[in-house]
Amino acid sequence: MKVLFVASECVPFIKTGGLADVVGALPAALASEGVEARVLLPAYPAVKAALPKAKVLRQFPRSFGGRGQLIAGKAAGLDVIALEAPHLYDRPGNPYLAANGKDWPDNHLRYGALCRVAARIAVEGCDGWQPDVVHLHDWQAGLTAAYLKLGRRAAPPCVTTIHNIAFQGLFPEKTVETLGLPEKGFHPEGFEYFGKLGFLKAGLVYAERITTVSPTYARELTSAEFGMGLEGVIAARRTQVSGILNGIDLDIWNPAADPEIAKTYSAKAPAGKAANRKALAERFKLDPDSRAPLFCVVSRLTRQKGLDLLLEALPRLIGRGASLAVLGSGDADLEAAYTAAARENPGRLGVVIGYDEALSHLMQAGADSILVPSRFEPCGLTQLYGLRYGTLPLVARTGGLADTVIDANEAALQAGVATGFQFAPVATAPLADAIDRCCDAFADSKAWGAMVRRAMKHPVGWETSAAAYAKVYREMIEAQR
Ligand code: ADP
Repeated sequence: MKVLFVASECVPFIKTGGLADVVGALPAALASEGVEARVLLPAYPAVKAALPKAKVLRQFPRSFGGRGQLIAGKAAGLDVIALEAPHLYDRPGNPYLAANGKDWPDNHLRYGALCRVAARIAVEGCDGWQPDVVHLHDWQAGLTAAYLKLGRRAAPPCVTTIHNIAFQGLFPEKTVETLGLPEKGFHPEGFEYFGKLGFLKAGLVYAERITTVSPTYARELTSAEFGMGLEGVIAARRTQVSGILNGIDLDIWNPAADPEIAKTYSAKAPAGKAANRKALAERFKLDPDSRAPLFCVVSRLTRQKGLDLLLEALPRLIGRGASLAVLGSGDADLEAAYTAAARENPGRLGVVIGYDEALSHLMQAGADSILVPSRFEPCGLTQLYGLRYGTLPLVARTGGLADTVIDANEAALQAGVATGFQFAPVATAPLADAIDRCCDAFADSKAWGAMVRRAMKHPVGWETSAAAYAKVYREMIEAQR
């Protein structure tokens, strides 16, 4: 079975969030399900650099205002097809934002071109390879479904995966014509979203199937609270929506062989975690009490992630003798507030503003607990790394966080299944109460140690989810026969 992934980010080439992790890891996991996946990406500078010996597959003399060509090659174990169009993609840094922090004004062209080329590959094949299924990731790929379904040629089925519905790719009505889309699709049952062209909406309306990255988020998306205006579209297609949890790369995230951490350790021999705690404390200039947990946060600093709530709960955390290391970047006001709070709480709160993959490994290894107080969280990856590293996640009961962490309540403790802490509703007081519960649990070092070992054994790889995606692909192919 051949599957074409269409995406705007992919680890290890370019990443702004969990979407890139999934696109980079899922193809290898699918291989053991008999799926041959190729990933179509824009040829940003980092993608081009990873394909020094790329083969030119095909040229497009006109590609939304300039020349384009498809190149292909293997990189980082992935079969990559890249759309080279320097006028659209030859820009360093964040793929979506210009240096002024605003969206590139031609993002509709940049991702419209990607979708149009994806549809051509789907219909015509390229390099003697034609996909049986097209797998679209997030809004940047969504328009592919419209080009396919509103086109005149027979097309393979496609599935759209929602990694985060907060990003929908909305553009003015006039872009419909610019992008060569048929006017007949511009209505509320088509790709129109309240007078605008909606890339993600197109992906949801015209794809045969929809998936999202956890069962709980799949349910939440049908409600106004989480659906961000698309809840009706998703509810109407309820029977074609599946929630499939993300996995993590067990080679990259392996405390028994992680080159970025101070000392390796495992569930069988967890003692090395203490050396990482010490290294983490030194790195963040913390002076943690051995009787209270050292918490960490590795996150975009945004309201979605609930990190304003954590600031409010900070006095309770510090009052319990606990300490906190924060690594993140994002909203200027949150960056400033965390930096100020660190100044006011020397030795107890350490903050690094920035993006640092290597440091994120040390944090997962060195902390006792990772805090993820998100207002919404489609799947979340950092709590999965936390489980794997025995860094018990303390999470909001929402989306994938609810599906992956088993709360240490009385019943779960007695049954011996708890792996972390959940709180609900997502507000300051319940978060502070959960921090209290975590501190109480930490004080019982025997029970804590048992939870750490259990968390480290919790399955967080791709195996189950790759099988679930392969099943969706097979069902789509069957349905088209
Ligand atoms: P989202 O995609 O909403 O940002 P996820 O939890 O799904 O959230 O994925 C975030 C990914 O980005 C994780 O791999 C996490 O470790 C990483 N990450 C986030 N912020 C940072 C940072 N400041 N430094 C290093 N890695 C980070």
